[in-house]
Amino acid sequence: LVCPVEIESEFDERLRKRHAVFRPFPQAVPNKFTISWLGHPPCRSACPAGVNVQGYVALIQAGKYQEALKLEREANPLASVCGRVCNHPCETECARKEVDDPIAIASLKRFIADSGEYPLEPKQPTGPEIVVVGSGPAGLSCAYFLAKRNYRVTIFEAEELIGGLLVLGIPEFRLPRDAIKKDIDYIRSFGVEIKTGVKVGETVTIDELRSKYRAIFIATGAHDEIRLQIEGEDLPGVLPGVSFLKRVNLKEEVRLGRRVAVIGGGNAAIDAARVAKRLESEVTILYRRSRREMPANPWEVEEALNEGVKIEFLVSPVKFLGDDRLTGVECIRMELGEPDASGRRRPIPIPGSEFKIEVDNVIVAISQTPRTDFLGEEFERTRWGTLVVDPETLQTRVEGVFAGGDLVSGPATVIEAVAAGHKAADAIHSYLTGEKVFKKEFPVARPEPERLAKIARKSRAEMPKIPIGERGGFVEVEKGLDEDKAKSEASRCLNCAVCCECLECYKVCEPDAIDHSIQDQILEFDVGAIVVATGYDLYPDQNLIEYGFGTARDVINGLQFERLLSASGPTGGEVRRPSDNKVPKRVVFIQCAGSRDPESHLPYCSKICCMYTAKHAMLYKHRVPDGEPVIFYIDVRTPGKGFEEFYKRATDEGVLYLRGKVSKVFEENGKVIVWGVDTLIGKKVEIEADMVVLATGIIPRPDAQDLAKKFRLTFDENGFYNEAHPKLRPVETLTAGVYLACAIQGPKDIPETVAQ
Ligand SMILES: Cc1cc2nc3c(=O)[nH]c(=O)nc-3n(C[C@H](O)[C@H](O)[C@H](O)COP(=O)(O)OP(=O)(O)OC[C@H]3O[C@@H](n4cnc5c(N)ncnc54)[C@H](O)[C@@H]3O)c2cc1C
Ligand code: SF4
Ligand code: SF4
Repeated sequence: LVCPVEIESEFDERLRKRHAVFRPFPQAVPNKFTISWLGHPPCRSACPAGVNVQGYVALIQAGKYQEALKLEREANPLASVCGRVCNHPCETECARKEVDDPIAIASLKRFIADSGEYPLEPKQPTGPEIVVVGSGPAGLSCAYFLAKRNYRVTIFEAEELIGGLLVLGIPEFRLPRDAIKKDIDYIRSFGVEIKTGVKVGETVTIDELRSKYRAIFIATGAHDEIRLQIEGEDLPGVLPGVSFLKRVNLKEEVRLGRRVAVIGGGNAAIDAARVAKRLESEVTILYRRSRREMPANPWEVEEALNEGVKIEFLVSPVKFLGDDRLTGVECIRMELGEPDASGRRRPIPIPGSEFKIEVDNVIVAISQTPRTDFLGEEFERTRWGTLVVDPETLQTRVEGVFAGGDLVSGPATVIEAVAAGHKAADAIHSYLTGEKVFKKEFPVARPEPERLAKIARKSRAEMPKIPIGERGGFVEVEKGLDEDKAKSEASRCLNCAVCCECLECYKVCEPDAIDHSIQDQILEFDVGAIVVATGYDLYPDQNLIEYGFGTARDVINGLQFERLLSASGPTGGEVRRPSDNKVPKRVVFIQCAGSRDPESHLPYCSKICCMYTAKHAMLYKHRVPDGEPVIFYIDVRTPGKGFEEFYKRATDEGVLYLRGKVSKVFEENGKVIVWGVDTLIGKKVEIEADMVVLATGIIPRPDAQDLAKKFRLTFDENGFYNEAHPKLRPVETLTAGVYLACAIQGPKDIPETVAQ
């Protein structure tokens, strides 16, 4: 099977895996393959660009790296860049964090970008010409998605380097130039032309461009540094942060003194501090709030601290000191007040707490704002200087002119700029052709808590890095995951949405029978009566921790044992234990697991467990003649035709019945230890078993109450549906025309439900 997704099979009670494409069960009618798809996983929903994360992670696990890269590039052409510097909101939302740690998604992205070839897809578009202003992530992304739609795109870039802040702002030790070039070459292969040294507003005006091109996308970023507006800011020795980084990135000679203070708490401040450290200065960041409020990526802050950068929190500069050159900074200490508009607690100066520090340079990196003076008055700006656009289409107030990236959002992130570029490309296509490009909304598919509770913990792959002591110049600090680590990390993914929409199945399905675009349909039927036969659920295993669930690997429930006994089950009908696939020689069955226990679990008797446990124990004995079945019971209830005789046969065939409650089950040296009391002889017992099978209590399905509301049915205190009258109208409900026929009414065995 080509499907890279594997999840635990529901039919086999999670004892084996199945693919997203699967035959639901051997007797299914119709007996066809189907695909389970639950929506978009949290990672994909959290990604501003909607990258199919689950898809490429699944393909990595299957060793299909080129396919994984191709899938990534469908939503993001900057795979190599984003694998290194993306702030990865996908990881923040990853469902795996509920089990242990989120999947290392960014590291996996980098792995596919770095592994082997980085294939180009040469094309020569022939459609209308469009111009993009600015070659940062927003401009590159827009050009790429337009070129894929066959538009001929030219990017005008003011600088000699291509990439915007990727090359001008972010330092090489985080994002090497080769890594950026790979993505740019890929975008160029689609026929995108990039002209450097063309400053729109000077070399050519917007009006000239408008007269020549039917659509323009402006993505000139936010590069103007915001000033602190305090005394001494113009003294030699005070440097604006992004300009400082630009000069270093452009390989200009930049000299700093021994002591450097960096003002700010964002990525630019952290980068400036790490660069200053590499230029051999002693660096202290002054930040006016606490670490929790820092907008910089926490992992970058950690690296800066590891590299010896000091951070003074709750400190703000009041004035820069010096006569003809900077000699120090006067600061004031701050405390945090109520949250402000950004949701972060407002810093408030503490009167009288002023102090001075001696420094040779200060780098001010508090924020940037866009420069829009090359655009006329007809373009509307916000009070922060960003451009106003229609949020749906990114079109400015000027016909045919679209804008996005930091120019519109203010300083943001690479992936947000990529998303804006894609959105603008779709909007420009709609604008030019009238064809609507809809962005569909999908449900967010999160694994259920019961599933999460059964996932074994596995540690997250650590990114290998150059040791701190060896980090000198601008060589990349992070070294990337190797293949084994990447595959092992990818295998931690929970495949939240099940089908990941990688479309590998399309490639092999010869009759073209797969259609991933099918939508849910709501059908209406006229009916005379409704029979509710929605069955039951098992009491959640994770509630039975005293019986070793979740900790002892060879503790299973009765339904799982039933699957082991089945010829179509995971072991072909042989009794084998999950941990090592060995035949268990002593199996302890525990009746009433969760039932008849009003203090801790369910108050009622689940009715079916006495008899099915006797059956399980006997079948086990038949399959493993030298095996020892032991049953712990409170009392044995046999209220059915032939049941008492069946119980008698079990005891005659060598099933050992021990009357008593089990207090604890745990794993030790490959055995499952069962502690209990034999209440007939009044003694404690300890049994070393190879496997434990719990006759788990039964409960109504989780959606039973919703269904009851739909049909206006009533239910009892345990959630089982009420019949109209227990003796006179046992299968009717109080809603005319709605009948009951199954364990939704209360625990029942097969003959009873069939008769009902
Ligand atoms: C130091 C620093 C570190 C950062 N670190 C990260 C990070 O780790 N992760 C992350 O996700 N984001 C990070 N960011 C933010 C990220 O770089 C930006 O959000 C992103 O680059 C914005 O993309 P953009 O295309 O809108 O603009 P930019 O990248 O700024 O590109 C704009 C381009 O337009 C060109 N241009 C400007 N005016 C003209 C003109 N008149 N004519 C022609 N061309 C023009 C510019 O030269 C530039 O090339 C960082 C930013 C900085 C400053
Ligand atoms: S699209 Fe991919 S994950 Fe979904 S069923 Fe097809 S092969 Fe499996
Ligand atoms: S576990 Fe996998 S599919 Fe689920 S959110 Fe994390 S990366 Fe996405």
